Amino acid sequence: MKCVRCKAKGIIYLKRHNAAFCQDCFLYYYKNQVKKNIKRYKMFDKKDKILVVISGGKDSMALWHVLANEGYSVTGMYINLGIGQYSDKSQQVVESFAQKSGLELIVKDIKKEYGLDIYKLSKLLKRSTCSICGSIKRYLFNKVAYDGGFSVVATGHNLDDEAATLLGNVLSWEEGYLARQSPVLESTHQKLVKKVKPLYTLTERENLFYVLINKIEFLHDECPHATGARSILYKEVLNRLEEESPGTKQRFITSFLEKGRKHFQDVYEKIELKECISCGQVTTTEICSFCRFAQILKQNKEV
Ligand code: SF4
Ligand code: ZN
Repeated sequence: MKCVRCKAKGIIYLKRHNAAFCQDCFLYYYKNQVKKNIKRYKMFDKKDKILVVISGGKDSMALWHVLANEGYSVTGMYINLGIGQYSDKSQQVVESFAQKSGLELIVKDIKKEYGLDIYKLSKLLKRSTCSICGSIKRYLFNKVAYDGGFSVVATGHNLDDEAATLLGNVLSWEEGYLARQSPVLESTHQKLVKKVKPLYTLTERENLFYVLINKIEFLHDECPHATGARSILYKEVLNRLEEESPGTKQRFITSFLEKGRKHFQDVYEKIELKECISCGQVTTTEICSFCRFAQILKQNKEV
């Protein structure tokens, strides 16, 4: 198949667009998608100080690279979550990329800096490691951004992630989560920093092409806790639908954003926000979950 843009030999075929691209035109398409998403949702501009959340996987590495190359003011933020070899390897990949590319990076280590242990917490609270881990990450994204004077936090969520999350939320009509599912979450409190997802229309496969073409090192392994997660099942189901009907994932997301999300807007606006009595960060309870985790571990040192 020929490249739809320059008619050279196409090397990447994107079924949902019924289009093939050569290497250069794929990069043009990719950057164009990112630029369109930033513009469509007024995510940020060149004056903004952007904190990019980096896990070391292909999506976040692609995001960091593309934004830096487009001239945005970006700083990476990596959180070592204490997940054995996975955390050690991903930290190495991220630090090495930052060093080679001359990019700024903030590293946080939840064990060393805050004494937190997701495994102990999971056992004590009888909650999954992912739910503990998710709360800690969300807290730190916002805290680091707020304390560092960043105007926006960008994450590498892709189209596959967004469609799988939406499917999960729709299946159980999670109104609160549906209200919050958007490529941009404006700040609703002076201590909450705006959150954006500039890659929400690009697939995992497209991000993979982007990092391979640009020879960006990334961690191939998934977090060991990702296997068996419900989101993986949703991704498989959606892949099956996409195979039969290309463009399903994108239609699912765009039609939800255009027609569905507004029905949950009042749920979002009704969430009452407070400031944690211990750390001052925004929470819906007296004391935020991050401070509660630290307290629980202090009280249960022997676990
Ligand atoms: Fe954390 Fe779960 Fe994601 Fe692993 S898969 S990084 S434990 S949320
Ligand atoms: Zn707190």
